[in-house]
Amino acid sequence: MIRLELTLPVQAEQCIALLRRMPKGHPVRSIVEKDLRSWLKGYYGEQNVAYHLSFLPENDYYIFHGLRLKDKYEFQMDVLLISSKFALIIEVKNISGKLIFKKGSDVMTRVLNNLEEGMDNPIQQVKRQHLQFKNWLKFHQFKGIPLEHLVVISKTSTIIETTPDNQQIFQKLIYAQSLLDKITELEEKYSKPRITKNTLSHLSDTLLNAHDISISDILQKYQLSQTDLIPGVLCNSCNCYPMEFISGSWRCKTCKETSKTAHITAVSDYFLLYSSTMTRKQFAEFLKIDSSIKARYLLLALNLPSAGTKRATKYFLPKNCIFSPHDENSMKKGELFK
Ligand SMILES: [Zn+2]
Repeated sequence: MIRLELTLPVQAEQCIALLRRMPKGHPVRSIVEKDLRSWLKGYYGEQNVAYHLSFLPENDYYIFHGLRLKDKYEFQMDVLLISSKFALIIEVKNISGKLIFKKGSDVMTRVLNNLEEGMDNPIQQVKRQHLQFKNWLKFHQFKGIPLEHLVVISKTSTIIETTPDNQQIFQKLIYAQSLLDKITELEEKYSKPRITKNTLSHLSDTLLNAHDISISDILQKYQLSQTDLIPGVLCNSCNCYPMEFISGSWRCKTCKETSKTAHITAVSDYFLLYSSTMTRKQFAEFLKIDSSIKARYLLLALNLPSAGTKRATKYFLPKNCIFSPHDENSMKKGELFK
């Protein structure tokens, strides 16, 4: 059973929002585009792994995609699988070319088109997650669950190379196509249930409650300021800006498109790019709404959680809610933030 669905990573959503609001020809665009391609590649790799996991019996496993927890430091697991017999952490890699692993090294070398590049060794990465999750389980009093970890290479076209004295890495490093065989192997290794169905269900709920996505400061990452970005409500059809709010609808001056929901993407962009909180004044300024009555009406209709009173009221997104403007079904007014 999937407890936490696979979604586009927050960083990819941020890149998409940034590209939507950066003028054409901005020097940072190409860097953001490159980073977005890399986030999307990782996401497609995880989609492939999710496909293989969909063959597991529904009732035996709880599956979490992108679960983010805090031990001493925060850590995020691409996939966590828990059953009453064992738990398995999976780090997914979707990397083209040849990967060379040297014994005991924290770095792996990727060779693509005759170019060599050093990358973090994913086996070391998942080992750290293993330690952190072990601490997390101990802290939350979940005892007796054997914990395993794996690096899954999503494409068989990725070549893995290592020295004869380092073959043990293939115990922890497999291709996605072998994932179900590996899980069967673990089922044989841990044939007896270690925790009851009730404890498993309690653990699953505790994990979901502890899950906490974070939106990092992307403007700082790319050394951008708010003046680099285009404010206002953008037209969904022709991408022109700003749309104007007239008689209850957003209207595009260029293509004459009207929309009742075009501002929702702008609000999402604000939270992804600018700040985790928004006052009514900031809302009106960013969306370029000149009437405070219209701004109040539109903001309240979004039904966002808030803190504070009167003009100092700050609005924010509900916990772990990143609404994706690419999801047409979630674009209906007000629905997203309830
Ligand atoms: Zn338009």
